[in-house]
Amino acid sequence: MLEASVTVLPGIGEKRAQTIKALGLETVRDILLSYPRAYKDFQRIVEPSQIELGVEQLTSGQLLNLTERRISQGRRVIQGQLGSSLTLTWFVYHKGPGASFLFRKLQNAETLWVYGLAKPALFGAEMSSPEFFLRPPKLGLMPVYPLMSGISNDQRIRWVEAALKHVHELGECLPDEIRGNRPGRAEAVQEIHFPKNWTRYEKARERLVFEEFFLFLLGLQRGQGVTEGIAHEVDGPLVQKYLANLPFELTAGQKDALRQVAEDMESKRPMRRLIQGDVGSGKTVVAEYGAVKAVQSGGQVAMMVPTEVLARQMAGRLKAALEPLEISVELLIGNMKGKEQERVRQTLESGDCDVVVGTHALITEKVNFKNLSLAIVDEQHRFGVRQRSALLGKGNADLLVMSATPIPRSLALTMYGDMDTTEIRDLPAGRQVVDTRLVDPARRDDVYRYLVSRVHQGEQAYVVFPLVEESEHLDLKAANQEMEALQNGLLASVRVGLIHGQMGKEKDAVFSAFAAGDIDVLLATTVIEVGMNVPNATVMVIENAERFGLAQLHQLRGRVGRGTKGGICFLLAYNLAPHSRERLDVVRKSNDGFYIAEEDLRLRGPGDLFGVRQWGQPLFRLADLGEDSEILTEAAHQVRELLARDPLVSSPQLRLELERYEW
Ligand code: ADP
Ligand code: MG
Repeated sequence: MLEASVTVLPGIGEKRAQTIKALGLETVRDILLSYPRAYKDFQRIVEPSQIELGVEQLTSGQLLNLTERRISQGRRVIQGQLGSSLTLTWFVYHKGPGASFLFRKLQNAETLWVYGLAKPALFGAEMSSPEFFLRPPKLGLMPVYPLMSGISNDQRIRWVEAALKHVHELGECLPDEIRGNRPGRAEAVQEIHFPKNWTRYEKARERLVFEEFFLFLLGLQRGQGVTEGIAHEVDGPLVQKYLANLPFELTAGQKDALRQVAEDMESKRPMRRLIQGDVGSGKTVVAEYGAVKAVQSGGQVAMMVPTEVLARQMAGRLKAALEPLEISVELLIGNMKGKEQERVRQTLESGDCDVVVGTHALITEKVNFKNLSLAIVDEQHRFGVRQRSALLGKGNADLLVMSATPIPRSLALTMYGDMDTTEIRDLPAGRQVVDTRLVDPARRDDVYRYLVSRVHQGEQAYVVFPLVEESEHLDLKAANQEMEALQNGLLASVRVGLIHGQMGKEKDAVFSAFAAGDIDVLLATTVIEVGMNVPNATVMVIENAERFGLAQLHQLRGRVGRGTKGGICFLLAYNLAPHSRERLDVVRKSNDGFYIAEEDLRLRGPGDLFGVRQWGQPLFRLADLGEDSEILTEAAHQVRELLARDPLVSSPQLRLELERYEW
């Protein structure tokens, strides 16, 4: 039953099923495992006179002094009182004569139950637009599910109630000795949706968070118990030639990274190294160095990057750097003629190709290597752990992972707990920082005029729009309208290209056209590819900058000013709360990705840093890396113990769960 389509639940037909599928809800299991984002505390009814300020609560009493006033064309305010000290206010839209629907409804109420946030008012307290009930609501903790357009919370609650009838089919996934005295899985899932009280909620949540961390870490560390790797040769003439040919001095950070990679690769212990470095810190050199070293020892190298555009770019760069050393470089992506793919696969199998750059196409079963000795994964967070392992599985290879998202050290240890970490903290000398300006929206036209003037000088530009997951459809529509308006208005005199998340392959075509200079301004609703390297792009406008994460803003602006001309980035913020200004100021004033990531963490908490916005998929459903660090430590401990006892994880229930776990 758990695998049955959501259409078996009340009120979900084919059409609705399609809508919510886009949000990742396909089966009854998905409904069960999509947890509330908050709860309304309906445990007790507070007297209106006892109401506490600043907390949401349920209160009830006789509704007195109900009035409705017109405040402007079509807009009205309804006010009433509960007891002598609590004022209730609702704003309604009502044209025409007579009282509004809401007013008439309230007029018939004697006793009213209201739930809302009380704020101090001139006399006593006030609730603005509280939820209300004409009959006593069910007491307890009421789940609030993430917003979905067209679906009410009540509907969602009914689905969950129906799905919970099958909760026992979930089965326990934690072996007894690991679970300890935590609640069972079915019980915890039941309680997370409808907790009896806060204590029960805490227990249920702890269990589920533990489970998430445990499975995540187990998946990460399982099967990496290979103890014998390849011992590559010390640097010989080929590597020395590569280094001598470099057109620049290495930074201190790069030198350190090369030294560590050399040590790892020469050792018999398999290398598992993460190189973290800010955008533009020169991580590619480290990859190239490793590649040359592997080839020098007679091995092959596979480099996996997240998109086809990046694969093409990277293949081009590696060809330029390595072909002079008579190292052959090939590209392997899905969007390539079948014959050509076949040819490349044959060169990998025969050993004629030394280095291959590609996308997921590299990890399909058809790909075999003669002697893969180094696997490189760029922009790691875009790939799942499973994909990383799949690539490694093509040989007994050393692994080098490169990430441009600076993650504070404590978190890196968690995320890549199984890996050694190197940070490149310095940028190449003479690198220009991107001039970042926080602009008042009133000056928006000036910003676009300036952008156009730079384009007329032969430069290129990006305009980025945010999408927030909860109201993505609305946002997308608004963003599309916004983009059209720009295209026909302020940007009418330049060549504009559009990309958005819903686009498939065409996205790559637009990116390539931009890279080739056939498009002047790229308007994007998705995050512009990390690693995208178009040196002629110098101007970036970020619309609704307040809606992006700081680390993300920093990454985005790293796309401009990669050439000799300085880059400029305009942050347009329309809803600038004091708090948002403080956040944006961090990006405006600093150019240190690590510092920014740390501030981001401090200001928003790690939940957001690792949130949906940044990486497409949330890593955890419930767990919060900051708040739950103790549970994480405990889970890490349990994973270590388990793997020591049973390195291959023989428990069938755990294996099943690991298969299902979506990284
Ligand atoms: P990222 O770390 O973002 O992947 P890249 O490896 O793409 O950075 O390097 C960004 C640019 O800086 C490239 O054009 C590269 O040639 C250049 N570069 C890398 N290292 C140095 C250096 N030590 N000195 C000068 N330029 C460098
Ligand atoms: Mg890079």
